[in-house]
Amino acid sequence: MSRSNELYQQVILDHNKNPRNYREMADAAYVCEGHNPLCGDHITIYVNVDPEGRISDLSFQGNGCAISKASASMMTAFLKGKPIEEARVIFKEFHEMVTGEFDPKSRENHLGKLTLFEGVKEYSSRIKCASLAWHALMGALEKKTSASTEA
Ligand code: ZN
Repeated sequence: MSRSNELYQQVILDHNKNPRNYREMADAAYVCEGHNPLCGDHITIYVNVDPEGRISDLSFQGNGCAISKASASMMTAFLKGKPIEEARVIFKEFHEMVTGEFDPKSRENHLGKLTLFEGVKEYSSRIKCASLAWHALMGALEKKTSASTEA
């Protein structure tokens, strides 16, 4: 196993065991349930936005495979406190990375440690697991109550 693969496995395991921001947010402004029919993952995203347009709080709950949960956990930790507009840019980069359209090493980007998910592009059935929480977040910001990776 390569070093980056090993790191990937460790991070996925860690976020599964100790998911960050794993809680229901009773006063959330936006709530969106994401569903990935391909794998059976369900991830609900809770978002609050402050008057300046920043994501002031972000959490999730749900049932899903290790990749969908780890991705949701890392996404919430990474985006909390960031402006919505930046979150949209990061979503686009992340989505293009996991679908293989964008090589994060080829140009400057905002992905930081999220580049760990780059290897997902090799496993087409896992792409939707990794991007589920992101689709749910984008749905929430568009005031939708549900989002599907099939859409
Ligand atoms: Zn999955």
